[in-house]
Amino acid sequence: MKLKLPYDPSILETGRRFVLDINHVVSKQIVNLPCDVFALEDLDASSMRKGNGRRFNHKLGSWSPFQLQQFMEYKAWDLNKTVVCVDPKFTSRMCSRCGYRDRNNRHGSIFHCKQCSFELHADLNASRNIEAFGRSEYFRLLSTSRSLRSGETMPTGMAEDSSKPHPSGRGS
Ligand SMILES: [Zn+2]
Repeated sequence: MKLKLPYDPSILETGRRFVLDINHVVSKQIVNLPCDVFALEDLDASSMRKGNGRRFNHKLGSWSPFQLQQFMEYKAWDLNKTVVCVDPKFTSRMCSRCGYRDRNNRHGSIFHCKQCSFELHADLNASRNIEAFGRSEYFRLLSTSRSLRSGETMPTGMAEDSSKPHPSGRGS
């Protein structure tokens, strides 16, 4: 027998508010860290939106990870910091030490490189790849940014840099 729970819109609204509040707090804490550039996996909402209708798009706006990304982007912008979004395609399959890509590198929470035998937690390996991709994406944006002033030097580290390309890190 299928259990049917009574529909209560107020509970749904309370849940949304809770997620909204958490995302505000978490995004604020992250962008206030002593770094000027933050790299995230791009959730690519534009491709998810295609052909999915208004109702889906409305739900997507309140989807927690996407909301967190949006909050981080505008809060970072307010602080003259940058969020760069990287393609998530290979972040979990690629070895952060040697660059070898293979879907069999990952076994649940363990990452074990088939090429160099490097092993660590899969999330940590993916995080290192996101950092590396974010770094190269940031430099790419910086070199193509129209706002780059002549004579400005390229930063040596993301954390020390104060010049910035486009706020969302997606180019202009
Ligand atoms: Zn490797």
